Amino acid sequence: MLKPINLSTEDQTNWQSDLSQCFTAVDDLLTELELDRSQLSVCQRAATQFDFKVPRPFAQRMKKGDPNDPLLAQILPVKAEMRRDPAYIADPLDETSHNPIAGIVHKYRHRLLLIVSPACAINCRYCFRRHFPYQENRQSKAQWQQALTYIRGNTDINEVIFSGGDPLAANDRFLSWLTEQIAAISHIKRLRIHSRLPVVIPSRIDDSFLRWASATRLKPIMVLHINHSNEIDNQVTSAIERLTNTGIRVLNQTVLLKGVNDHAATLAALSERLFDCAVTPYYLHLLDPVQGASHFDITSDHASQIYRELQNMLPGFLLPKLVREIPGKLSKTIIPTDV
Ligand SMILES: *Cc1c(COP(=O)(O)O)cnc(C)c1O
Ligand code: SF4
Repeated sequence: MLKPINLSTEDQTNWQSDLSQCFTAVDDLLTELELDRSQLSVCQRAATQFDFKVPRPFAQRMKKGDPNDPLLAQILPVKAEMRRDPAYIADPLDETSHNPIAGIVHKYRHRLLLIVSPACAINCRYCFRRHFPYQENRQSKAQWQQALTYIRGNTDINEVIFSGGDPLAANDRFLSWLTEQIAAISHIKRLRIHSRLPVVIPSRIDDSFLRWASATRLKPIMVLHINHSNEIDNQVTSAIERLTNTGIRVLNQTVLLKGVNDHAATLAALSERLFDCAVTPYYLHLLDPVQGASHFDITSDHASQIYRELQNMLPGFLLPKLVREIPGKLSKTIIPTDV
């Protein structure tokens, strides 16, 4: 049984107003950070291809005056995004061919992804979905019925994954409705939510969210996406605490990114910080080769070398699995790290 929700007054912040107050102009953020354009290689054209969007609670964790801040590097549109390399393509995971009906990605055995919300609260420059045709995956409640029919008809699916975009950019009324519909399908055991919102706008984990997430018969799992320990401040810690206190298991995935976290010590510090918050490090992903993100990539040999160092710094239970997504495979591919 899940524990009852602890109704505290600090939960009253409205996450939707935090969402509407994101930085959407690079210069506004740079002013806030006391940085000058001359210190950075900002590219306005890159921002027209993939919007600039940064929630204030996330920006507050950036160091003022530091052009190399690891959080800033994740969201700043730069000239390197305009480089064209044929190895970096628009749909590196070939998701459009596993899109049987709008809103569904069915490529893993026993589990199915629902594109619950096309939007994200933050736009991460390395995102493998920066070119995904979200407009075609926007749908009405009636269209969701089709997705539910698909789940009902595929009895080997036991886990539904709310994905996106960011699924928690959708409102609780819709999410709670969808969850109830899914819970009524007897072969579904688990509900997984892949979200960066509890990290970038911690007020998202409010009473309204916890109410539906704890009311369902489905066992909820939250997979966060945190790349650097600086992303975890007290607000994030308390959002995670609200999740774990409600009986939600919390895991984290990280993308290995040049200029952000490509050092064993940085990754070890992240794992230790996650442990302090009762979060289990789950995956360490090699970058998906998406167009516009090649400057974040490191070779898989270098990744293996960093990982071997990391292995010497952490207990096994704090070591995320080093993986890569290969189109057509039924699971992530574990990267060999033997010398
Ligand atoms: C790999 C992947 C999953 C499934 O991951 P498992 O934890 O291996 O089941 C779900 N969503 C996305 C976006 C993924 O890349
Ligand atoms: S899907 Fe995840 S990685 Fe991509 S922009 Fe949204 S929050 Fe960032």
